[in-house]
Amino acid sequence: MYGGIEAGGTKFICAVADEKLRIIEKISIATTDPQTTFNQVFAFFDQYPIDALGIGSFGPIGIQPSQENYGHILATPKEGWTNVDLLGQLKQRYKVPIGWTTDVNAAAFGEIKRGAAQGKRSCIYLTIGTGIGGGVVMDEAVFQGISHPEMGHLFIKRDPEDTYQGTCPYHKDCLEGLAAGPALAARSGIKGEDLPLDHPIWDLQANYLAQALMTYTLVLAPEVIVLGGGVMNQNHLLKKIQQQFTELMAGYTETPPVEEYIIRWGLPNESGVIGTLLLAQKELEDKKNRSLS
Ligand code: ADP
Ligand code: ZN
Repeated sequence: MYGGIEAGGTKFICAVADEKLRIIEKISIATTDPQTTFNQVFAFFDQYPIDALGIGSFGPIGIQPSQENYGHILATPKEGWTNVDLLGQLKQRYKVPIGWTTDVNAAAFGEIKRGAAQGKRSCIYLTIGTGIGGGVVMDEAVFQGISHPEMGHLFIKRDPEDTYQGTCPYHKDCLEGLAAGPALAARSGIKGEDLPLDHPIWDLQANYLAQALMTYTLVLAPEVIVLGGGVMNQNHLLKKIQQQFTELMAGYTETPPVEEYIIRWGLPNESGVIGTLLLAQKELEDKKNRSLS
């Protein structure tokens, strides 16, 4: 039996699944202080004989096993969670193989194995919600280097008429600061959900996202880019992004037809948790293979 935790700043989604990855039970726990949250997570998983666990966490997180901050949540604006040893807590409680990565890397893994990017060997998953974050799968494995990708915080070229200062607490007008859900609301005075379809902000929004997708394409050349998150519930936005992307790229590098290249998530609101279950499965398989060789 596999366990999966999508650890977010608002909620922890915990799930258990059988060996075919069919979800048996799934719960959502509000993210409060670490100890209260862990106790609820333990109470859930203690009920099941899990053989492996996958965790996709909000970040940034420590991912280098040789470093002291491995398994920790690093500098987060979420009060009480900076330097919390999330992986360590779970390791102490459950003596099983545990896969550990970011929430968006887990979502990218979910999308490539079971969602919109199925059949591909590489993909980027980008969520546009309260923040903007991206995960990467390369050669069918989540990509991590010295750290994990932080694709929401790149700088983009501002529209000359856009005077909005930006909401990112670290960089102000990075992509997240200019184009995440809270920026939409702050710039227009209307919550994203309630913004009319013909509001000029959508062209600006599409342009900023298309610029970022161009950068990702030029840097990583994935086979497909999957977009998710609350803001992508705006059905008209996808087409605008695709159009702007095509214009900005100006035919420079070859990409698949844009309707197949920039697509919406296939597992709405579930890519992350399904990804963590898949990571648990992979972790167990890797461990078995290691002990055989
Ligand atoms: P989170 O990122 O916290 O996991 P969501 O992905 O649901 O959660 O993102 C929430 C953000 O997305 C909020 O800023 C909200 O205003 C915005 N949002 C949610 N639904 C829509 C929508 N239909 N249109 C535009 N913005 C939306
Ligand atoms: Zn930023």
